Amino acid sequence: MSTTANTFDVARIREDFPILKEMINGKPLVYLDNAATSQKPQVVIDALVNYYMTENSNVHRGVHTLSQRATDSYEEARTKVQEFINAKEDKEVIFVRGTTEGINLVAQTYGRENIGPGDEIIISAMEHHSNIVPWQILCEEKGARLKVAPINDDGELLLDEFENLLSPRTKLVSIVHQSNALGTINPVEQIVELAHARGIPVLLDGAQAVAHVPVDVQKIGCDFYAFSGHKLYGPTGVGALYGRADLLNAMPPYQGGGEMIRSVTYEKTLYNVIPAKFEAGTQNIAGSVGLGAAIDYVNGVGMENIATYENELVAYGTEKLSEIEPVRLIGTARNKGSILSFVMENAHPHDVGTILDSEGVAVRTGHHCAQPLMDRYGVPATVRASLAFYNTREEIDTLVKGIDRVIEVFSR
Ligand SMILES: *Cc1c(COP(=O)(O)O)cnc(C)c1O
Repeated sequence: MSTTANTFDVARIREDFPILKEMINGKPLVYLDNAATSQKPQVVIDALVNYYMTENSNVHRGVHTLSQRATDSYEEARTKVQEFINAKEDKEVIFVRGTTEGINLVAQTYGRENIGPGDEIIISAMEHHSNIVPWQILCEEKGARLKVAPINDDGELLLDEFENLLSPRTKLVSIVHQSNALGTINPVEQIVELAHARGIPVLLDGAQAVAHVPVDVQKIGCDFYAFSGHKLYGPTGVGALYGRADLLNAMPPYQGGGEMIRSVTYEKTLYNVIPAKFEAGTQNIAGSVGLGAAIDYVNGVGMENIATYENELVAYGTEKLSEIEPVRLIGTARNKGSILSFVMENAHPHDVGTILDSEGVAVRTGHHCAQPLMDRYGVPATVRASLAFYNTREEIDTLVKGIDRVIEVFSR
């Protein structure tokens, strides 16, 4: 703890998150379901309230003062996202509903335009359904094929096997930056290098990674990067898709409607320039402003500090869980973070989750939207404790006590 103790005061940080004071079944809430959605600091809640109290108006459409205010806030939020992921230009940031919509957008625009019969799209064996199904829909429509790069038992991508899958037929690689089910952080720079050497663009699913590791899309070199606001301590219903400007400019629009047009006649509609081209209809303006506030907040804590603290916490949790005989950890990659996924002998994950809940501990049980990955490990489901920087060692101890209680119940 010595390295971060000076800059990182978890007790102080917890004060910023009102929900952490909740009692669950008479016990203090231990929130370990951050990979599903994270809690919101007061500043994010305030940003939403302030927006509706003092700025609410539609953007880009009015000359009146309020509309200008709303537009300024909305565009400031875009700039915050740009700087947060180090995109070159703010117009490379498209506001979407979240990761799922970002990936579908690329599949339905870039994909439809550039992928044809016999072409191949490569994903990995640790993808969330949101990075599987959009490509299956596209492949079905186009007669293209989905190829899956395998992983080892620790949950690490086999880079050699990935490289072997790359062929002249490969038109796109779409891979998760950090797995929501295993915690594995993929070697994204190497993946991009291997793909780009063959002229293949790369999309990264950054739904988990943005909240846990510093992300620099220019350094990584990826072509698209999708993430959700709600896993980054921001509101639900908003997220961002980064795309390289030249690709976005060449892509057809996703949805049709207001703001994405320059002019409409019944004969021909001219589309707006990016990013507006991809933002049809009234956007989640308040959500975007809230996401901007969340980014300000995590920047204040520091992504490096967050990563260091969480790594210490996940190491502590791994050590504690490894000591428990009937617990089997799923996902033991050398480079992993924030996730403790496990199964228990003789106890179904659902029962483990229920007993933990009675102790105030919130974990997720199930397939974590990664059924093919569960098949890979031969389990129907796991228990997943997923950490955030407001979690503590004491909370891990409470989790361990809850697991002891599970063992007690099931040995009766
Ligand atoms: C949560 C998650 C998604 C989907 O995000 P939404 O916010 O539901 O769109 C996709 N990929 C990963 C790795 C996730 O963790």
